[in-house]
Amino acid sequence: MPRTRQELEAIERQILAPYAQFSGDTRGRAHAEAPPEWRTQYQRDRDRVIHSRAFRRLEYKTQVFLNGSGDHLRTRLTHTIEVAAISRNIASALKLNSDLAETIALAHDLGHSPFGHKGETVLARLMKGHGGFEHNQHSLRIVEQLEQKYPNFPGLNLSWEVREGLGKRKGFDAKNSSLEAQIANLADEITYYSHDLDDGLDSGLLSEKELAANVRIWSHAEKLVKKQYGKLADESRRYIIIRTIIDMQIRDVVENSEKLIYAAKVNSADDVRLHAKPLIQHSKERGKLNLELRKYLYKNLYYNPIVHQPNLRAVKLLG
Ligand code: MG
Repeated sequence: MPRTRQELEAIERQILAPYAQFSGDTRGRAHAEAPPEWRTQYQRDRDRVIHSRAFRRLEYKTQVFLNGSGDHLRTRLTHTIEVAAISRNIASALKLNSDLAETIALAHDLGHSPFGHKGETVLARLMKGHGGFEHNQHSLRIVEQLEQKYPNFPGLNLSWEVREGLGKRKGFDAKNSSLEAQIANLADEITYYSHDLDDGLDSGLLSEKELAANVRIWSHAEKLVKKQYGKLADESRRYIIIRTIIDMQIRDVVENSEKLIYAAKVNSADDVRLHAKPLIQHSKERGKLNLELRKYLYKNLYYNPIVHQPNLRAVKLLG
């Protein structure tokens, strides 16, 4: 006998923390549908996102470098897959619903314009008289209206908790989203910090020497790797340093969030929503180190004319 949704829901009750978002407790979908047989509601949502047209289009959207600039560089699609993997890991470590965190991560960038933030600025100008353009709003428009594949409703008809994670909390006034949504949000940041370092080095715009001198996160990880592995060949050293940075970021979020959740005394997903502050957070010390890295990346990578030029040329196509 195949494993049923009811069995999967029962497993969630056994293995997840009481403040997790249980798929069996969903607030449901805008249009009523028969529940899935062998998947949970959030597993169905995940499959709908993966099979959407907007998901496939992520392949051609700029993360930092215009698609085609280099075979190894990230696009929005590979970025999204990395965010989903990191979201699952953090959610699992905190005994939260990995399927929900993963689904929100997979959908988080669907509404991005082509050609990065320059593309968004141009679209916002062109759409001024028609409600403007903002990528988070557009992600919701895609999943609620623009995808046209089901005969009985527009959009993907995703569960309330997935749409909540994309910024919509209709019908429930709360200060925060589920812990799973908070994870997807923070995993986005962890992912792009680490892969932008990798792509920055790959493209030659960043150098290990400069990073070691200016970015403490890099120099800490470099020292650890040297201690553990001694001298490594260039490519594997870079890979292991970046892996170490991701590990340090995840460990910090998991350990710090665990303390915050415990101190907040939350006993349900709705307690989390009504809590005054987000409970998935980096420690203060790590927050400071991340700010240093962020400033460095803005100055030396994101605002670098070599990154900008191909996107600026492409943006002219939009008008
Ligand atoms: Mg993102």
